[in-house]
Amino acid sequence: MDDPYDVIIVGGGVVGCFIARALSRYRVRVLLLERESDVCSGTSKANTAIVHAGYDAKPGTLKAALNVAGNRMYDQVCAELDVPFHRCGTYVVALTEEDLYTLDDLYHRGMQNGVSGMRIISGEEMRRVEPLVNPDARGALYAPTGGIVDPFLLTIAAAENAVLNGVHLRLETEVTDLIRQNGRIVGVSTNRGQIFGRFVINAAGLHADQLMAKAGVHGFTITPRKGEYYVFDREKSRVRTVLFPCPTPISKGILVTPTTHGNTLIGPNAVDIRDKEDVTVTPEGLEEVFAGAQRLVPTLERRDVIAVFAGLRASGSTGDFLIEAPAQAPGLINVAGIESPGLTAAPAIAEFVLDLLRECGLALLEKANYNPIRRSPPRFSELSHREKAALIAQDARYGRIVCRCETVTEGEIVAAIHAPVPARTYDALKRRTRLGAGRCQGGFDTPRVIHILARELGLPPTAITKKGPGSEFVVRKTKEWDGNEKV
Ligand SMILES: Cc1cc2nc3c(=O)[nH]c(=O)nc-3n(C[C@H](O)[C@H](O)[C@H](O)COP(=O)(O)OP(=O)(O)OC[C@H]3O[C@@H](n4cnc5c(N)ncnc54)[C@H](O)[C@@H]3O)c2cc1C
Repeated sequence: MDDPYDVIIVGGGVVGCFIARALSRYRVRVLLLERESDVCSGTSKANTAIVHAGYDAKPGTLKAALNVAGNRMYDQVCAELDVPFHRCGTYVVALTEEDLYTLDDLYHRGMQNGVSGMRIISGEEMRRVEPLVNPDARGALYAPTGGIVDPFLLTIAAAENAVLNGVHLRLETEVTDLIRQNGRIVGVSTNRGQIFGRFVINAAGLHADQLMAKAGVHGFTITPRKGEYYVFDREKSRVRTVLFPCPTPISKGILVTPTTHGNTLIGPNAVDIRDKEDVTVTPEGLEEVFAGAQRLVPTLERRDVIAVFAGLRASGSTGDFLIEAPAQAPGLINVAGIESPGLTAAPAIAEFVLDLLRECGLALLEKANYNPIRRSPPRFSELSHREKAALIAQDARYGRIVCRCETVTEGEIVAAIHAPVPARTYDALKRRTRLGAGRCQGGFDTPRVIHILARELGLPPTAITKKGPGSEFVVRKTKEWDGNEKV
């Protein structure tokens, strides 16, 4: 048997990846397990990407404390990981008299939670800041500490930094059971065999309650709460600010926001469902989203939409995050029910988990050679002409544009395929490079990308997938190819 790990983390979402990164600072052996072909394949890839200020969560909850603590860590974390983050501020817009009372409530809640700099502004000021806002806006709660981030790059960068600091990552490895010896959890059974570790961290997102049940920890359940979205063409995106409506009892409401890449995003609605894998969009859901967003920005037009998607919140039965070392299962740490603001809270959740591990007896001694800095590979479209020319002179593959809408080059694709957390599928490349994220949604680039993936991975094109086994693009050859690239 191999030496046991000190910590096995189940789940490569933003939470698991930040826990891995936080642990990689110390002299401990850490393994991160993800059942999909890439990290950031669950809820972390389908959300609104807001770094929430922290006025929403009920004071005294873990959600409230970790939201505000996580938010404060974002400037440093994103600078270290070289990830797009804009602390642009957020606005909750009041459209009715009653909404104005809600703004007061949110403001006071925010004060209790320790959110700094909030201000209630007039409808006139709101319209000055965002001319596209509904002319009936009567006021807004402005929270300058709110922001927007790229959730894919954030999660991938955290995983990459963890791997470069010594964390082992195994993809396509699904934990099917927990191993118990003498009353303690001592490891996990997976589709690839058993792995032993002193501590197992359950960061399995929507499936965290199932793992808890396998450890004999009952009473906490997770309901998938679906949220649907529209993405707008960047060329047609004119919204400058993050606009929330007043919240509902189960969600922050359907908002209108720019993304860090300049698209407008609208959504999500909130519908409890049963199937934890169901990320389909529905005509009724999309209708609800458009109508909701138009209340905030009446000039939005459907013809400017380029994509739709849905994400599932892991809504826990207690209404709060559950982060605990359960007495019934020593050796296990549960990080469950991490619904919104989980993306914001993730860096703070990681520190909280480290404290729990220390309390449970894990010695965390700093490594001399820990490096928190991770640099992104070059993004061709963002370079100056001089930088582009220099890059092409170094490597001609940067001179070949594969995705025309987003100007993504072959050089960037090859770099992502061979990165410390390798992109081995089309969607993994999309999350890292933005290929296929533009107006044509992959219409032009897909055959080229299949070819590049096949060549770089040494696989036949029939083995190349959109997002892992079962999503192959092509099933057989229709004609022979002479092996020469015709570009
Ligand atoms: C509609 C919507 C909007 C949101 N908007 C925001 C927002 O604007 N701001 C914000 O802060 N938060 C937001 N959130 C919340 C945020 O996205 C989540 O809190 C966060 O992504 C949760 O991360 P996670 O790592 O816990 O879960 P996930 O990202 O789901 O990761 C869990 C991982 O575990 C893996 N896994 C599961 N079971 C196993 C197993 N048995 N073995 C191995 N691997 C396994 C899964 O494949 C998955 O990759 C939103 C969520 C939704 C759905």
